Amino acid sequence: MRKKIIAGNWKMNKTVEEAVELAGELMRGYAEQTAVDVVLCPPFTSTKAVSDVVSESQIRLGAQNMSAEDGGAFTGEIAHGMLKELFVRYVILGHSERREYVGETDGEINRKVLKALEKQLRPILCVGETLEQREAGTMEQVVEQQLRGGLQGVEPSAYTELVIAYEPVWAIGTGKTASAEQAQEVHAFIRKLIGELAGAEAANAVRIQYGGSMKPANAAELLGQPDIDGGLIGGAALDAASFGGIIDAASEA
Ligand code: PEP
Repeated sequence: MRKKIIAGNWKMNKTVEEAVELAGELMRGYAEQTAVDVVLCPPFTSTKAVSDVVSESQIRLGAQNMSAEDGGAFTGEIAHGMLKELFVRYVILGHSERREYVGETDGEINRKVLKALEKQLRPILCVGETLEQREAGTMEQVVEQQLRGGLQGVEPSAYTELVIAYEPVWAIGTGKTASAEQAQEVHAFIRKLIGELAGAEAANAVRIQYGGSMKPANAAELLGQPDIDGGLIGGAALDAASFGGIIDAASEA
């Protein structure tokens, strides 16, 4: 059985004070729960403060990006060692907003995935098609290319640590959610592909999250699908009651 994983991507939201408040609210409800892996990914400016709030709880910390370099003259970048120092365990890589606005390529994302794994940080590798790609019927090709590119050189044994987030770009922040059947179909496709890339054991072990306007009202149905192992949550992660509702749905799924 794969343990469900619910991660909140706070994106470029929350001051330090607001981040501490939100983490504190979640601590009141979920500090000790172990049925679901809960991960908070605040902006870097709040990482230390949120780390202090959730330390000694079951809530884990994640980052929204990481450099593939170890350190040095890379203005504006954050290295793995800086994240680990703050007890960060997970790192979102290849989010569609970084692919689109920063121009991150599969090759660059792959270097980050390999670096994260080498340094015992768990990558949450994001993949997903745009609306145009879905309408053009190239969805599977796009997702396959992102996975083959992003996962090059990943050892089969590493798939227990790795998380994949399937996030159809047309569903992110738009209020449009993939139907449970649409999402399950792509998740099953991804798991089959991982089987081809890394073997049946890796395919069975890897956790695949759905992301794209997940909220308490649609979480139970999505999380009830056989190949949906959790959620990567944007908007609904900014509010403790909404995020908590999704964690509750995951623990009952
Ligand atoms: C995301 O960007 O990872 C995401 C899923 O956002 P939202 O939940 O707001 O659609």
